[in-house]
Amino acid sequence: MSLKGKVALVTGSTSGIGLGIARAMAAEGADLMLNGFGDAGEIEKLRAGLAKEFSVKVEYDGADLSKPDQVAAIIAKTQKDLGSLDILVNNAGIQYVAPVDEFPEAKWDAIIAINLSAVFYGMKYAIPGMKAKKWGRIINIASAHGIVASPQKVAYVAAKHGVVGATKVAAIETANDGITVNAICPGWVLTPLVEKQLEDRAKAAGTDVPTEEKKMLAETQPMLKFTKPEQIAALVVFLCSEGAATMTGQPISIDGGWVAH
Ligand code: NAD
Repeated sequence: MSLKGKVALVTGSTSGIGLGIARAMAAEGADLMLNGFGDAGEIEKLRAGLAKEFSVKVEYDGADLSKPDQVAAIIAKTQKDLGSLDILVNNAGIQYVAPVDEFPEAKWDAIIAINLSAVFYGMKYAIPGMKAKKWGRIINIASAHGIVASPQKVAYVAAKHGVVGATKVAAIETANDGITVNAICPGWVLTPLVEKQLEDRAKAAGTDVPTEEKKMLAETQPMLKFTKPEQIAALVVFLCSEGAATMTGQPISIDGGWVAH
């Protein structure tokens, strides 16, 4: 229970990678603010289940993080209801694929708002409380697409490169405040965000999802395996530990060798 006494906010924690991170935070003893969209009954089951299984306080707030005032509000609520905000995991994200010249303006705006601006606002509103306590961990879930590009993903790639840049700035500004700021850059993780891309690819190519899974991995990753949410969560736990106290400003790859080749 190495994070007992700490409070973590994991954005987009009703699904996929965020859910895996939230579980690991609770397993380490941190009190938790969940966030994200989904069925109210399912989310309440998840909230109550984590609280019971790990004997920690777990709250949920359905803030829409594409709205800066709602980012400010969920941070204030976490501090008020759970007493502090020590660990901020900016994870919420969306995807849309189309070539640049066909990319809908509204999709560009939405991806930049959620995948990039919400990370900026989250850091902006969380850092003062962390500075006051002389301890904080900010972990931004970027992507291999924060380091390299793929076609059809202009908004996502631009946003994730932006997240890596913003991470570095916040890290150097807070380097002597007991705060570390890092970006995790996963390769392919089999979550609803990727399942949708696989279904679209199978439809377009007249194949099936298992065939597209193999093709998708082979296109970018030397290692033909999906990373699991629990593996990303284990890295988040490490970044919160004393062992990682001088690691800051880093884009950290967990991607089956994607950006190494
Ligand atoms: P997912 O679709 O399973 O989960 C996304 C979460 O974000 C959900 O809980 C959703 O409700 C929430 N969300 C979406 N819009 C929101 C908004 N406006 N306000 C609040 N919450 C919102 O996706 P995932 O694959 O788990 O992705 C999580 C993060 O990991 C994203 O930032 C994504 O870009 C990144 N990532 C994913 C992969 C992958 O292969 N799956 C790879 C690299 C990076």
